[in-house]
Amino acid sequence: MAKLQILADAAKYDVSCSSGQSKRANKDKGLGDSKGYGICHAFTEDGRCVSLLKILLTNHCVFDCAYCVSRKSNDVKRAAFTVEEVVDLTINFYRRNYIEGLFLSSGIFDSPDYTMERLVRIAKKLRLEQRFNGYIHLKAIPGASEELIKEAGLYADRLSVNVEMPTEQSLKLLAPDKNHQDVIRPMTYLKTEIAGHHQERKQNPKAPLFAPAGQSTQMVIGATKETDLDILGMTHQFYSQLNLKRVYYSGYVPISQDNRLPAVGTPVPIIRENRLYQADWLLRYYGFAFNELVGSEQPNLALDIDPKLGWALQHLDLFPVDINTADLELIKRIPGVGFQSAQKIVEARRFRKLQPEHLKQMGIAYNRAQYFMAFTTAFSLRKEYTPFALKQLILARQKSKYARTFSTQLSLF
Ligand code: SF4
Repeated sequence: MAKLQILADAAKYDVSCSSGQSKRANKDKGLGDSKGYGICHAFTEDGRCVSLLKILLTNHCVFDCAYCVSRKSNDVKRAAFTVEEVVDLTINFYRRNYIEGLFLSSGIFDSPDYTMERLVRIAKKLRLEQRFNGYIHLKAIPGASEELIKEAGLYADRLSVNVEMPTEQSLKLLAPDKNHQDVIRPMTYLKTEIAGHHQERKQNPKAPLFAPAGQSTQMVIGATKETDLDILGMTHQFYSQLNLKRVYYSGYVPISQDNRLPAVGTPVPIIRENRLYQADWLLRYYGFAFNELVGSEQPNLALDIDPKLGWALQHLDLFPVDINTADLELIKRIPGVGFQSAQKIVEARRFRKLQPEHLKQMGIAYNRAQYFMAFTTAFSLRKEYTPFALKQLILARQKSKYARTFSTQLSLF
């Protein structure tokens, strides 16, 4: 129990887990299955999403990354699970319906390979001996050999290699034992393996699964000076060149008296973290390019409004959008209109000319969206506001909504 407390507590700083989209069916009367929702979620007080069994194999570490609670120079209680203990905990928690999967990360015991080998053994035992079909997310340890990473992919639903710092310079500064290439190399390897197995399964559906929920990574933000432009530029590379499924942003929690880092007591940048998640959402689902949201003149996202509204206020010349004729892609860019609502609008207008009341029934945030829309048969509600005046008006009228956005829960558009 004491081990569990120490190693679950240490794991909360790693946000790089959430539901994956893998489907692992229960076969031959095995235990559990992994549906589209993957691992189950809980929200910590500071808004982070954690799984119910999210643990470290150990918080011993031979490395000394300044931003990490498990670093070797930190004076904390240390513990380590055995392979069997993690397997037993997972199975027992699963059977009691406490969890739907396992998120397993680790400090580095001795060498990356020594640690990775244990992570792989846990996943292998769960799958082959316990016939566990629930969701497994394993941390791929930077610097571990390709053979071990490959084996991990055969048993885990998702693998993540944490980049930790948005740039090579900050990694050098805060994690001198680490090397940017040790992170990029396994990501590149995983990209190729995932694509290869995907192709193979198209031809032979019985070919083994390989990390079916893909790979993800995590970046610590606010520990070093990078702007949102730097961070989203890196994110763009992860999505476009390495086919990552998710990038997670973790606001730095000041835990060290270290003159390379923000002082202890500096607030965790939770709102900035939320804005980055919103921007990330726009990149993945709304067709935005990262440099539409941030640029050299404005390298950081606004904190008081979400990035889509920020973009629209800078492009008022494109609005109002005629809701009855505009392309889906432009409708998706209207503040207050979500991805699914945009699709509903395009579907519904095939049958009738849409009016404001129809949109309200679709559940869009009409109070905000109204300034950016026009209707063929009705007058446009848009007045000639300046971006500043419009922003003030929207903020004033949507106070409660923004209060939610500034709270610990994510509110997306
Ligand atoms: S290698 Fe990982 S666990 Fe070890 S100090 Fe660095 S971030 Fe922490």
